[in-house]
Amino acid sequence: MIKLKQKRDKNDIYGIPILGTLFKNQKLIKTVQLITFALFVYGVYMGFVEPTKENTFTRYLFWGLFWSLFIVVSLTSFGRIFCAICPHAFIGKYITKFGLKKDMPKFLKNRFIGLLLLFFGWWAVYYAVPGFWKVPLATAWLFASLTILAFVIYYLYKDMSYCKYICPIGTMMKSYNKISPTFLHTYKEDCSSCRTFECTTACSYNLKPFTFNKKNSMEDCTLCMDCSDACDAVAFSIVPPSKTLMEKFKFQKADVWAFILITAAISITMGVHHGLGRTAIADEFIWSKTAVFAQQYVNFGTLSASGIFAFTYSVLISIIIVVFGMYCASKFLNTTYEKTFYTLGYAFAPLFIIGGLAHLISSFATHHYADIVNGFIYGFGLDTANVDNLASRRDSWLMYLKVIPYLAALWGYVILAKRLKQFNSSIIRKIFAFIFASSLVSLYLSLQLYTGYVFKTYGAKKSGHSHHKSSHSNKYSRDKKQ
Ligand code: SF4
Ligand code: SF4
Repeated sequence: MIKLKQKRDKNDIYGIPILGTLFKNQKLIKTVQLITFALFVYGVYMGFVEPTKENTFTRYLFWGLFWSLFIVVSLTSFGRIFCAICPHAFIGKYITKFGLKKDMPKFLKNRFIGLLLLFFGWWAVYYAVPGFWKVPLATAWLFASLTILAFVIYYLYKDMSYCKYICPIGTMMKSYNKISPTFLHTYKEDCSSCRTFECTTACSYNLKPFTFNKKNSMEDCTLCMDCSDACDAVAFSIVPPSKTLMEKFKFQKADVWAFILITAAISITMGVHHGLGRTAIADEFIWSKTAVFAQQYVNFGTLSASGIFAFTYSVLISIIIVVFGMYCASKFLNTTYEKTFYTLGYAFAPLFIIGGLAHLISSFATHHYADIVNGFIYGFGLDTANVDNLASRRDSWLMYLKVIPYLAALWGYVILAKRLKQFNSSIIRKIFAFIFASSLVSLYLSLQLYTGYVFKTYGAKKSGHSHHKSSHSNKYSRDKKQ
């Protein structure tokens, strides 16, 4: 290990008290990795031995703490740090050391695999089979299967190929990492005289952190901090949010499709199915009518016809308007469709990840906090009373969260305006290109406005939305005013 007395910039997290320790102290990092791994294993084990819905530990460990809280909060703050403590990568690094270290076949080196696994394997199932995620046995099977797949791939192939190409979470994290206000890189002056490249030797992903600055990309970096342990010239800096997106870098097609598909599958479908679906005129919308029509001919059994059609319409409409918008923008910019699509498509990044914070904070306060804590009390058989929710759905401060999705849309527009600078075209042409290329941002914004209008004009559905009702019917008292 090289021991340099590194003089750190003031925005380098490694030089900031407490934060520096949190991100650079290997013992602390290893401890957090071990705790996460132990929780993961226990959560899966509990899912198998207590497969019914009473087992709230498994449900809320995975769908309250790991997904949503850890992933969304960490991505928008420090970046892809969930990967740094991920149980799969934690063990994977040891497996890959004694594995076969083969080069992954070309057909598997495709980032769309992870993306499509997430899109069809999780989100399509989520809407089609409501309540699937609440069954601990299903969660246990899902994560046990992913674990076996991950370990086999770590064993067969080199450079943590599972994380790079197959992991559904990793694909999403890699794309959204660009929005975060942190950047891992190295001090150029130290690297220019380096002959050992300890950072690369230490990196299980075979990355070169000393090239990140020049490429304006952290590539597949999972912020595991192994390189910063090997060489003191590695820096982890606080940068303006979305700094990467404001400048040039080599685009990745899967990144842009991740933004489109995830915005469509989460933000748009949730807005349609769980937002407009809770209004008094929910039955009047096309997805509800199509569901009623289709049910005359097809027996959907336990599947949710309205969920399937809300998802299908949302995804199709999102894809159509993006493709059409980018095609028109490319004509205005007088350049290729591909360049337009993959340069400007990065403007969609904030929609889900920033806009989703509103839902995340409100869910955490009104039920997830109590769900997670009470799940732990259940899981570890603690002799203590259950905790109550932090807030009620009627609390007025929750109203302020509604501004967040508008900020996300504004953020998207700003990124788009900045990225348009990469094209040589007249200002008038760029204005028209902006209008068309921002189609998904505008759809997202319109949905927020329209939902507000419908609630105000027609009010909420009397009986309540089925998804909503069921997600609030566990054994704990979750709303102080109920
Ligand atoms: S890419 Fe997937 S498996 Fe790899 S560290 Fe991230 S979440 Fe874990
Ligand atoms: S570049 Fe550094 S922090 Fe990133 S994955 Fe490699 S060793 Fe880990």
